[in-house]
Amino acid sequence: VAKTEYPKVIALQLTSRCNRNCKHCFAPKGTAEMSFEELIRAFMLFFSWGTKGVLLTGGEPLLRKDFGDIVESLQKHSFEIYLDTNGDRFFDYADVILESVDNLGLPIDFPNTSYRGGRNFNNVIKVLDYLKNNEQRPRIRVGTVATQDTLEFLEDIAELLLNYVVDIWKIYQFTPQDVNATANRASLEVSDAEFKGFINRLRKKYGNRLNIVSSARNNRSRAYFMVHPDGDVVVPIDEGESCKKQLIGNIFDEDIVEKWQQVHSSSNYLKNIACTLC
Ligand code: SF4
Repeated sequence: VAKTEYPKVIALQLTSRCNRNCKHCFAPKGTAEMSFEELIRAFMLFFSWGTKGVLLTGGEPLLRKDFGDIVESLQKHSFEIYLDTNGDRFFDYADVILESVDNLGLPIDFPNTSYRGGRNFNNVIKVLDYLKNNEQRPRIRVGTVATQDTLEFLEDIAELLLNYVVDIWKIYQFTPQDVNATANRASLEVSDAEFKGFINRLRKKYGNRLNIVSSARNNRSRAYFMVHPDGDVVVPIDEGESCKKQLIGNIFDEDIVEKWQQVHSSSNYLKNIACTLC
């Protein structure tokens, strides 16, 4: 009998709401949200599984009014806390984040303000400026989604990042999942060879100054235990033409870990954890 492999790191989408509407977004839209009480129940479950870390993501997790309470509860269970935010509302929670978040993910897809819309780029730069001068800071992971729109700016982003404290620059190959990313697939998709080529060139030029982590589509396939805002558990499966999120059940199903075990790829999952949390 195979030993049950419990998820060491869980990606928890706290909300599908977001104040942005990025073309490449692969978050769900219009999904119901677990209440704070349900989240507490979920955290108790994760704890019983021996889960080490929880990645808070969305949508935009800082739009949850109870974000501070959520983080406090995770801390009580001694989970490592990873946060993916677009950075727009960072200063509403700066103290909470500095005190409790171990690993902070911020997006830069374009070296100026024109991509995510509005002032997102400026807001992220403000956060990076603030963290640069702050000793008590989480590990900083800047994420860039490589699309047909952003590929040619990767070097400019690299130059920009050299001015900041960035522990990891994680470059994601665009994946056509969920509403926006699927709708914009034709104009954004980047081939495996193209992606690899850009990463190799960036590594050659910046590899000794930036810790570049490349996240290719096929390495992320079956590589998550992902909880949607409403508690459904999905496993993203990206096999080139066919790209989907497979619903495997609900977080409170008794056999949810067994179901996950049947669908996920253990090696991709472990690789993905290692490079997210390094
Ligand atoms: S990619 Fe991030 S910032 Fe953009 S719409 Fe999606 S959740 Fe919001």
